[in-house]
Amino acid sequence: MTRIYPQFVVAKFGGTSVADFDAMNRSATIVLADDHVRLVVLSASAGVTNLLVELSEGLESCDRMDKIDTLRTIQYNIISRLQRPSVISKEIDHLLENIAHLAEIAYSTPCSSLSDELVSHGELMSSLLFTEVLRERGAEAQWFDARKVIRTNSDYGCAEPIVSQVAEQAEIHLRPRIEQAIAITQGFIGSDDAGHTTTLGRGGSDYTASLLGEALQAARVDIWTDVAGIYTTDPRIVNQAQRIDHISFSEASDMAAFGAKVLHPATLLPAMRKNIPVFVGSSKNTAAGGTLVRRETENPPRYRAIAVRRKQTLLRLHSLHEQPAYAFFAEMFAILANHEVAVDLLTTSENSVALALDSTGSTSGEDHTLTTSLLTALSSHCRVEIETGLALVTLIGNQLHQETGVCRDAFSGLADHAVRMICHGASDNHLSVLLPGESADSAVIELHRRLFE
Ligand code: ADP
Ligand code: ASP
Ligand code: MG
Repeated sequence: MTRIYPQFVVAKFGGTSVADFDAMNRSATIVLADDHVRLVVLSASAGVTNLLVELSEGLESCDRMDKIDTLRTIQYNIISRLQRPSVISKEIDHLLENIAHLAEIAYSTPCSSLSDELVSHGELMSSLLFTEVLRERGAEAQWFDARKVIRTNSDYGCAEPIVSQVAEQAEIHLRPRIEQAIAITQGFIGSDDAGHTTTLGRGGSDYTASLLGEALQAARVDIWTDVAGIYTTDPRIVNQAQRIDHISFSEASDMAAFGAKVLHPATLLPAMRKNIPVFVGSSKNTAAGGTLVRRETENPPRYRAIAVRRKQTLLRLHSLHEQPAYAFFAEMFAILANHEVAVDLLTTSENSVALALDSTGSTSGEDHTLTTSLLTALSSHCRVEIETGLALVTLIGNQLHQETGVCRDAFSGLADHAVRMICHGASDNHLSVLLPGESADSAVIELHRRLFE
């Protein structure tokens, strides 16, 4: 029977929420408990994407076999708990064969579009299995291929969705599904104009959920993960981190952009555009509640959270010639623009410029930013110094530029650290420091102790 669902909810389940049969069953209970959930977006089962990324980087035959065996074990541990395993095992076997075939090509002729095709199999498998779990629980569930709707550019590994096309395709292909059944689809994957599979960067399933919520005007997007909401910092680093019950889009978006892994950096952009609240909770412990992200919150605090982003690179460029600073900066930024380098943060002095570059996020784990051609072009104009393995620690708050005492609070917490770069002022709401990677956790712990405990 077709019903119209004006108030429908998109529910996204991350890797640990679909890690095995018991996790899938818990997630199915969440879906079935709320009639409004009509669209389910899934990540690959925990660990699967990492295995697929390794395969896509090109492994020798016996290493390939090992990884594929591990993948098969993860899938079959779920299949063996189903009441009717044969319904689904053929399809999973077919996808595992595909993986083996693509992994062989990746070893001889690696390429980024092939990587995305290979890596997409994690979400394809988890969504097929979850559809069957829901059906066995009596639900009318339909599997849906997200690539029909999530149209992107061809930046394999970190593709950009084309929002207008997503909206158009979702209306044509997905709306009729959610009116008939609970649609189960894949996060993270999309397709480009040529019909090739693309991926939205690591952790991209959150982004898929909010893109589809935007496209179909959902009433809410629920992100079910392994923590009961968004905390004042990563609770894995700081035991005393506190759950934030309500947070604004812009605060949570800053947290995500500066490395709070609980949300993919772009997740809140579609939600903000259409003013769709986003709930974050734990699929293991729904009773614990969670965080509601919405347009405004009451009494936004001076300090909201601390985020950390690892694997950062510092590039320091020193002018070789006697020339005015404006000419030197213009030259440097022209080179960076020609090489499409996205500068994350920067500071300058009279004849030097320091740039922080972020290489996290892409599905292909490699850093393609500092290419030989970029370094050759820069070296002909300046002396180049590169420092890798740094971490960016960011204090996120409200109107920090107008408050007194912010620097005292922040820097007293960093007194024992070798700070490599400080950025404050361009934004009203955050202050970032670049530190050696190995000291990031202790800096976060100390800052959190002083500012939040
Ligand atoms: P999923 O697989 O469900 O998408 P992720 O591992 O991507 O889950 O994100 C959840 C993890 O994000 C948590 O286990 C936690 O360690 C980390 N995290 C980082 N910063 C925060 C934060 N501020 N609040 C909550 N979790 C955070
Ligand atoms: N499976 C993908 C990853 O591990 C996407 C996601 O989990 O959101 O990055
Ligand atoms: Mg995630």
